[in-house]
Amino acid sequence: MTSQNTDTAARAFAELDAYRALEAKQQPTWPDPAAVQVASDELAAQPPLVFAGEADQLRTRLAAAARGEAFLLQGGDCAETFAAATADKIRDRVKTLLQMAVVLTYGASMPVIKVGRMAGQFAKPRSSDSETRDGVTLPAFRGDLVNGYEFTPESRTADPSRLVQGYHVSASTLNLIRAFTQGGFADLRQVHAWNQGFVSNPANQRYESLAAEIDRAVRFMDACGVDHSELKQTEFYVSHEALLLDYERPLTRIDSRTGKLYDTSGHMLWIGERTRELDGAHVEFLSHVRNPIGVKLGPTASVDDALRLIDKLDPEREPGRLTFITRMGAGKIRDVLPGLLAGVRDAGATPLWVTDPMHGNGITSSTGYKTRRFDDVMDELRGFFEAHREVGTFPGGIHVELTGDDVTECLGGSENIDEQALATRYESVCDPRLNHMQSLELAFQVAEELKR
Ligand code: PEP
Ligand code: MN
Repeated sequence: MTSQNTDTAARAFAELDAYRALEAKQQPTWPDPAAVQVASDELAAQPPLVFAGEADQLRTRLAAAARGEAFLLQGGDCAETFAAATADKIRDRVKTLLQMAVVLTYGASMPVIKVGRMAGQFAKPRSSDSETRDGVTLPAFRGDLVNGYEFTPESRTADPSRLVQGYHVSASTLNLIRAFTQGGFADLRQVHAWNQGFVSNPANQRYESLAAEIDRAVRFMDACGVDHSELKQTEFYVSHEALLLDYERPLTRIDSRTGKLYDTSGHMLWIGERTRELDGAHVEFLSHVRNPIGVKLGPTASVDDALRLIDKLDPEREPGRLTFITRMGAGKIRDVLPGLLAGVRDAGATPLWVTDPMHGNGITSSTGYKTRRFDDVMDELRGFFEAHREVGTFPGGIHVELTGDDVTECLGGSENIDEQALATRYESVCDPRLNHMQSLELAFQVAEELKR
């Protein structure tokens, strides 16, 4: 580096570090600050997980979605776990997202931008710092990046060595995602092979007939001698909630091409509903990195909140820079979203609008499970499209919690998972996810909305 470059870098990091003086909500209480420094130094010495140029490319893709020329599909676990970062589980989540993307692309004749909630979604905001079971109170589980899910004092103690472990698990997850999506697995000729559902399921049957159509189209192109690499591999990006600043900060680097800061822990980072205060550490931190940024907006978000977030995070109003992920709840979206969309549009801003139909629809089953009704998720989805049609803005994408496994965490869907069935295969360590079939079913419904 030249000394001028060193000065520029030092200035950029000094601006970034303004977040340290602000309140950072939802951070763990680390028992030993010196151990956090050790972990941070170790992370700072690791290579970046993503390349800044990829984040830039995603930004241009998201800009197309904000103009109504593409659609964002963002999904994955509520909380990834280190134990579930296995080849099979990663493969099945990627497969599910590829299948959903095919349904959407074919249905809407629009490019679909695939972004996993993967390779870094290891830290969770919690409504309470502690959890009590049978009279025993321990720290709440904050995600594998902080502590263990097991309900023992040892496991629930925040352990900064998990930050480094999280980096390595993210690296191996991302490596496998790259291998799958670039190495032939995502070839459209594999469109049948991605399917893994029960043959009798309606969503599954619908998928099979769509796959047969795609197969014919691909064979036709083959016969004509068309050989597009786009059919053989696909762009796939990763994202997570940038919650734990002790993880994000050491992975934030200067891009040697542009001299700008990028958080290289993922392509896209978002700020959660609980940490989006304008004067909070998270908004400050992400205002200084060039990655595409998302912000969750719940039902209490005002037009003014949205406009101030735009001024802080996207002052240049650069297309694709800022995504608002709304999570209003099925009962509220039709009342709240149109006003928000209109207010932001009237101020001349064009963020990408995405719906998260999951987080406003949480309920507890009579059997004590944290769950969501598939019908409520669908209802919020429809409300999202209705609101955009009413205001004349673009419904740019969906953000969902899903898994490729046949879990029983959300009620309903074509397999009609009921309260009794929840107990059979409830595996989430945090929020309930759509299972493979429910995810496909949702994709078909979104494709219908996009065709209208
Ligand atoms: C999440 O995405 O898992 C989450 C906690 O969402 P929100 O910030 O919208 O509550
Ligand atoms: Mn969640």
